[in-house]
Amino acid sequence: MALIITAECIACWACEPICPNAAIRVKNEVFRIDKKSCTRCEGYGDLPQCVEICPVEGAIIDDEGTAMNPPGSLTGIPPREPLPA
Ligand code: SF4
Ligand code: SF4
Repeated sequence: MALIITAECIACWACEPICPNAAIRVKNEVFRIDKKSCTRCEGYGDLPQCVEICPVEGAIIDDEGTAMNPPGSLTGIPPREPLPA
């Protein structure tokens, strides 16, 4: 149920103050979401607050590994096709 912050995070600090459950923990500039505290912002709008404000595609994923802001969703730039081998 809880969301997960990945290594794509650039430690911009945007999400930490807006989490309604104080679920985002920071240690040595590494951001993590406390599984027990994150409710995916149930009752706080359509999108989780951290997902709404995060400027980095792929920095927050769900527990199935799906990016909440997938490639192209913020930049409008479609993901690049892999180069032919
Ligand atoms: S989804 Fe909501 S409760 Fe969970 S870490 Fe993000 S802002 Fe906090
Ligand atoms: S808003 Fe996104 S990039 Fe910024 S600290 Fe949070 S997870 Fe990392």
